[in-house]
Amino acid sequence: MKYCSTCGHPVEQKIPQGDNRHRYVCLSCDTIHYQNPRIVAGTVPIWDGRILLCRRAIEPRYGYWTLPAGFMENAETTIEAAARETREEALAEVNIEGLYSIIDVPHINQVHMFYRATLTDGQFGAGDESLETQLFDLNDIPWDELSFPTVRKTLELYLEDLKSEAFQVHVTDIRYPMPARK
Ligand code: ZN
Repeated sequence: MKYCSTCGHPVEQKIPQGDNRHRYVCLSCDTIHYQNPRIVAGTVPIWDGRILLCRRAIEPRYGYWTLPAGFMENAETTIEAAARETREEALAEVNIEGLYSIIDVPHINQVHMFYRATLTDGQFGAGDESLETQLFDLNDIPWDELSFPTVRKTLELYLEDLKSEAFQVHVTDIRYPMPARK
């Protein structure tokens, strides 16, 4: 951050009084520009025992497969965000079944949340941000072509839970880019 978004004056990094971290502070209008983690919300969309994945038509990770997910917007809930992203990227309507994973990704200042979901009518397609969408059999997940570590982690947890059909909420973190699956 270089300039104050309130008044346009250059900002400086300093620790405000009563704080313990460096913040971008405007010395002209005294605004403190706090920067906090962003939430990414998405779904694990299931239909007929298969998982719906989207192949990304945008950077980063163009051409890689992902669960439908994206940055939460102001004035919506995480469930609304997850359902909206599924609608936008996979042209699919879903019933949200429950929270599945919360994954902190502190090195990029994000929190990723995935909900278990079922397609309402089995309809899906490729939204503007997807090259294609496809239902994958659980044995055919394209592990070598997945987009993001949180998607991989969520799918790994899901397949593990599927063995016992006990879907708990998983709270975990990824603190560095995960190595490629062996
Ligand atoms: Zn200012």
